[in-house]
This record gives sequence, structure tokens and C-alpha cells, in this order.
Amino acid sequence: MAKQADIMELSKRRGFFFGSNEVYGGVAGFYTFGPQGAALKRNVESAWRDQFTVRLGNDEIEAPTIMPEAVFEASGHLEGFDDMLVECAECGQSHRADHLIEDNVAGIEDAEALGLEAVGELIAEHELECPACSASLAGEPVEDFNLMFETSIGPGTGQPGYMRPETAQGIFVEFPRLREYARGQLPFGVTQIGPAYRNEISPRRGIIRVREFTQAELEQFIDPEEDEPPLATVEDVSVTLYPVPEQESENGEYIETTIGAAVEAGTIASPWVAYFLGIAQEWYERVGVDMDRFRFRQHLPGERAHYASDCWDAEAEISGNWIEIAGFAYRGDYDLSKHGKYSDERFTVFKRYDEPQTVEKAVVDPDMSALGPKFGGAAAQIADELTALAERDPSAFDAETVSVEVDGERYTVESDIANFSVEEQTESGEHITPHVVEPSFGVGRTVYTLLEHAYSEDEVDGEERTYLSLAPEVAPTDVAVFPLVKEDSLLGLSSDILRELRSSGLSVTYDESGSIGRRYRRQDEIGTAFCVTVDRDGIEGDEPNTVTVRERDTAAQVRVPASELNTELSALLRS
Ligand code: ATP
Repeated sequence: MAKQADIMELSKRRGFFFGSNEVYGGVAGFYTFGPQGAALKRNVESAWRDQFTVRLGNDEIEAPTIMPEAVFEASGHLEGFDDMLVECAECGQSHRADHLIEDNVAGIEDAEALGLEAVGELIAEHELECPACSASLAGEPVEDFNLMFETSIGPGTGQPGYMRPETAQGIFVEFPRLREYARGQLPFGVTQIGPAYRNEISPRRGIIRVREFTQAELEQFIDPEEDEPPLATVEDVSVTLYPVPEQESENGEYIETTIGAAVEAGTIASPWVAYFLGIAQEWYERVGVDMDRFRFRQHLPGERAHYASDCWDAEAEISGNWIEIAGFAYRGDYDLSKHGKYSDERFTVFKRYDEPQTVEKAVVDPDMSALGPKFGGAAAQIADELTALAERDPSAFDAETVSVEVDGERYTVESDIANFSVEEQTESGEHITPHVVEPSFGVGRTVYTLLEHAYSEDEVDGEERTYLSLAPEVAPTDVAVFPLVKEDSLLGLSSDILRELRSSGLSVTYDESGSIGRRYRRQDEIGTAFCVTVDRDGIEGDEPNTVTVRERDTAAQVRVPASELNTELSALLRS
């Protein structure tokens, strides 16, 4: 089984990914995807887009990656998007305090949930040392560190902006417009694939924890009272679940079940979350994640984001550790309510009743000729506050006076002036705030998982070889074409084949240098599914106009007429 070092070495040597800016010393947490990696990543994104945008009939957007401060004030990121930091007094290195605990104290899987103080105490109790210089970290303060990259928009002091820490906010802030495109009808889903930025305290494990990464997210907007997911389409999908048992604070036993059975048993509380787990399971299988090294783990109560009522992670086993590669959260109305509250826009959907309904409504009709002289410039705002109070608490007007607050100041008004009354009104519907269910995928972590799960070693003709058994849909290269030797007739047929395969949409590479064995090994290592070799036998031998096709995983070779090559390969690669 591949170790992380094998993947890192292969990735660098063969151009999957490597540390960025190395000529200037490099900066931790930034990686460049090389020629193979960029193609693999793009194919993973296309497969995700096909599944979560096209097949589910969702809309896709592309929003800017820098957003103004107001967005993150509303979303809560400014206040609470923190990790736990402990700094070594000796060498100045910063570390994730919760990771130090998880790595060094047996039995603690989620140290963040314990809180700053407890983590500080555990560091002292277990006499943990700085991983960089081995100085003691006991007694060092453990602090919150906000993960957002701040920037300034425009010249001069500018206005503060932030690199988005998740693509989701780009969808939420545009909800009023997206609602119009969906013609105000729930349910609807909006997807986005793009970069997100987090100033991670300790980037590690190659592209697993980096400071700039790509997310693929779907925000599903639903009416929580009416909308049901099409669960029947995934109810037979088999899954491995690792849930939290009732009234426990640790994950319990593994459960091998189906999505339908898990909903019935209440193991997955939200049918919408269950639905997306089913779709995700099928997608991960399709792109080549090893299902024996894959599970869905439920968040522990202390681990869940404050807005999420049910949350599961997709986790892959990577180099002996379970790593989150996607999160599935029931976010309720948290995001839309917040943006509705902080902006002047309406973040609701108008839900029409089957029949118009008569409702009693508390209204006020303040006498402005009395309010104006009494309160001057504040009168209009006082009138607004009285209206809001009538909706919120009609009984307040039973008293002789009512008081309201405007800009931090209290104003007392005689109930007579407010002209309070209860009227019957006919309503055709009501405004509701949709709930959000969010599958959120890390593309880089998926790419890494595919590399590690596809990494294989065996022996061919007495020689050891390494090959990547990647699914054809995501492999960076579909076919390699080799003339066995550099002779005109072989070169001619090879370039005809190359042109034809490329014009039918396949990704084809060409290589005429080095021994044929070495050329095969190079393609094996980047996961090219088929190699086509043009040799002299196929030009003038017993089987003219034929080429050999070698399959990557078995290394088996068959002779195929050159005229049928395109059809055969296209069928094999797209099956
Ligand atoms: P973690 O606990 O590993 O920091 P998270 O729970 O903060 O991750 P989410 O906010 O749920 O992650 O983000 C959704 C997905 O984005 C994750 O499942 C992961 O695949 C990806 N992701 C998050 N942070 C990073 C990162 N620093 N580097 C690479 N991918 C990341």
C-alpha cells in the first residue's frame, strides 16, 4: 500500500503536484498542479459537475473570490472562523494546538470540541513539546486564530476585504437574484466550483491541508415543511456509516447499511442529508475511490458547526489516517436569515397558500401630525418601530403608553397616537426562509485520495513496476501512441493514428524516445489506460495495418486493426 512519501515523490517526478514558488524558497501550504495533476483535477471537477449540477438539474454560478467585510460579519466568519494556536516561545513556530493533542494523546479524536482552556491544560499535563525544536509547550497560551486572509480593496486605506474561506458565501449573498432565476420556486440547488482560502496554522500532508484549495459545493434550498428529496433513487445504495450512538459523545460502531434503511432507522436524521450521502457514495465509486477505504462519519455534538443540526463527513483512509474529504451539513435557515438581517434585502421565498386565508393582523397607523412635533427627525423611525412592535407583540398596545428604541435611545409614545387596531386581512401566502442542505467537497483532497487509492505495484516480465489504476474518466491521459522505432513508415502511421484519436476528443500523448519498456512504465506511472504501439509487423507482417494495444492494469497486449482502433478505444474508455 502506498505511503504518503511514495505519492509525494511520484507527484513531483511525474508532474501531478509540487510545492509552489520553490525558486524563491517556497511558502508552506501552496501547491501547483503540474501537467498531469491539472488534467486529473479538471477531470474530477468535470465528473463532479456532471453529477451534482447537470444530472441533478441544478444551476451553476461563478462568484468573485474576494468579498467585502460585511459578508463575513453577517456569516459569522469574522467572529468565529478560528483554529487553536499555540506558539513555541523558543523557536517562534506556530502549531495547531488541537492537532498536537490528537497526535499525541491517545483516545482524543476531536480536541477542538474541548475548548481553549482544556487543550492548554492537556498540553501541560502531557508535557507536549514543540515538533520543530522540542522545547516544552507547557504553560504557553492557547489562542484563537482567525483563518481568513484579509486584503484591502482599492487604493489608499481602501475598504477591508477577505479572500472567501468557502465558496458557499458567494451563493448565499446572491440568493435574492438566484431566487428570481428559479422563479421563486423551491426546491432548487445552486453549485459552484472554485478556490477557497484559509490561512491554516500548520499546513501539512501535501495537498490535504493547504492555504489555497478548490471546493465544489452545492447549496440546496428547500421548504423544510414540504420538500422531500427523491430518496427512492438512492435508497438501495450501500454505505458504511460510523454514527454517534444515542447520548454518547464518541462515534460508536460501524454500520453496513443502505441509505433507505439508515433513514428508516433514524441513523441519518435528515432525509436530505441521506439523499446526498447516497449520491456522493455513487460519485466517489465512479471516480475511483476504494470503497474499502471509505466511510461516512457523523459529527460529534461538540464538533458540529453551531448552525448545523446534522452533519456527516465523507472520509477516506489515507496513509493509515481517516481524512475528511467532504462535509454534508443541514444548515437550516442560518445563512439566509443572517444575510437577511444584516442587509436590506429579502432572503425569503413567497409561499402561496392553496386557498387564500383570512388572518387577523395587528396594525398601527401612527398619527404623524402628533409624532412629528413631539419627536422631530426620529418620528419616521419611531413609526417604523411601532409597526414592527405591533407584529411582534400586539399586547404591548394594551397599556396607555408603549416604548420603542431608535438608535439606542428609548422613546415613549401614547398608545392613542399609535392608533393600534386588529384588522382582518386576506393573505394569498406567506414569506418563509428556506433551509439549506450543503454537500461541500474538497477537490484537492479527492485528487490525493484517488492517487493513493490507485497506486499499485506488481511485477511484469520479472521487473517491478508502479502503476496508477485510475478510472478512465479521470485519468489525465487516455491513450499513448508509440512508434516502436523511428522509421518513416512507423512514424507516418503513428502520426495518422495520433491525429485521428485526438480529433475524436481523446486525450492522447505521443512518445518516440527511449526503450519501449521505459515508455510503458512512464505511462503506467501516470495512469494512462492504453498504450498503442506501431511496429513493423503491423506494417508489412502477416497482419498488415494492425497495431498492438496494451492495457495498463494487466499489461496484456492484443493486436487491433488500425482502422478499428478509434472505435474500440473510445468504447473502452467511455464504458
Ligand atoms: P478540516 O476539519 O479538515 O479543517 P473543515 O471541516 O474545516 O476541514 P469544511 O469547512 O467542511 O472543512 O470544508 C469542506 C471541504 O473543503 C473539506 O471536506 C475539505 O475537503 C476541503 N478543505 C477544507 N479545508 C481545506 C484545506 N485547508 N486544504 C484542502 N482542503 C480543504
